[in-house]
Amino acid sequence: MRAGGAGELFGTNGVRGIANSELTAEMALDLGRTIGSLRPGKIAIACDTRISSSMLKSAVSAGIMSTGSDVVDIGVAPTPALQFYVKETECSAGVIVTASHNPREYNGIKFVQENGVEFYREMDEESERVYMSKKFRIAEWDKVGQLYRDDGLRRYIEAVADSVELDRKYRIAVDCGNGAGSFTTPEILKRLDCDVYGINCNPDGRFPARNPEPVEESLDLLKKAVVDFKADIGVAHDGDADRAVFVDEKGRFVNEDVMLAIMAKHYVEKSRGGLVVTPISSSKCVEDAVKAAGGEIVYTPVGSPVVAKVMIEKNAVFGGEGNGGLIFPEHLVARDGGMSVAKVLELMDSTGKKLSELAAEIPKYHIVKGKVECRDKKRLLEELKKEFPDANHIDGARIDFDDGWVLIRPSGTEPIARIYAEGRTEERARELYEFGVEAVKKIL
Ligand code: MG
Repeated sequence: MRAGGAGELFGTNGVRGIANSELTAEMALDLGRTIGSLRPGKIAIACDTRISSSMLKSAVSAGIMSTGSDVVDIGVAPTPALQFYVKETECSAGVIVTASHNPREYNGIKFVQENGVEFYREMDEESERVYMSKKFRIAEWDKVGQLYRDDGLRRYIEAVADSVELDRKYRIAVDCGNGAGSFTTPEILKRLDCDVYGINCNPDGRFPARNPEPVEESLDLLKKAVVDFKADIGVAHDGDADRAVFVDEKGRFVNEDVMLAIMAKHYVEKSRGGLVVTPISSSKCVEDAVKAAGGEIVYTPVGSPVVAKVMIEKNAVFGGEGNGGLIFPEHLVARDGGMSVAKVLELMDSTGKKLSELAAEIPKYHIVKGKVECRDKKRLLEELKKEFPDANHIDGARIDFDDGWVLIRPSGTEPIARIYAEGRTEERARELYEFGVEAVKKIL
């Protein structure tokens, strides 16, 4: 089970595991009973394209109905489309069945609040207590919930397409990775009058073309398509299309932190200041770009629910993670792959700049990531506080220097500490990385 974070069952992204062994239909049924007991009313549900999604979605739905709540099934949909549906309708909660970027054998179940925002950690903890207690609401025979179906895709596609206006026509190569974005992103782009060249835009839960995680090494086909098709940009999604990664007009992958910095800068400029929220592991290039534009940066622990939570608390203008998960709060406080594509096009359109030009405006950093063995996480955290009192201890310890930083962060799921180091030069990044490794070794 991919636990870590809340407790035994719920991790940083709901419940995840290999379908039908680690994550079973019985568990899905009880998770449905859990959300139905906690948030009675009408609960929306959707799933990604995985082979096990239908089975798990049916079991969750049955569990919800047994508590007396109704279910609205919007079918196969990206996570942000389900979240947007919950926000825009009278639903008391939402459930998305997806394992996001994990390999094909995995699946997952994640809960959504009535405002469309994913469950915060404390809500997952409460869910876990109810799940473990098995004390669920049980409706009388004539009060069990009913199953309805609705079109959540059209609503989402229209809202995203209507949120931007483009003056000219764009050519775009899209790689949906056979995931849920196949149902939305090509359609959004057609509505924006773009010429679309689709790759892997046929839904297929075996993910025959590439792993659902859109890492640079798996996007050769997209890079080639951008060049051959003379596209303005290329875009690729993960399995549930809450993330989007980009290729510039020359067919070069644009680092996700750089994309985050480009959009954060744009939003700060547009609102003449404001806060941008991002995890402590994000590149300094984001902070530099935000500050240069007159904004401020707020760091959070790693994980998208806490980024969303802090964005709402602090009324942030923008937020996101350095993995392609961008959050546009005026639309929905959640990572949104379809909206990311629309907003990148809007920025190119309003500035007249190519994506390579926008990327060139962002300060350059080199990042080195790795891990070291760590069996005593509690002691590591305590000693890091003593050793580096001036560091940021919001999630592990981030030690900042004038020309870079290093983050030492014990993993929630494995007996390791992750080390992230960033510097102005590759040599400096490596030096800071070694500094982090030595610091852990010295402590343990
Ligand atoms: Mg995802």
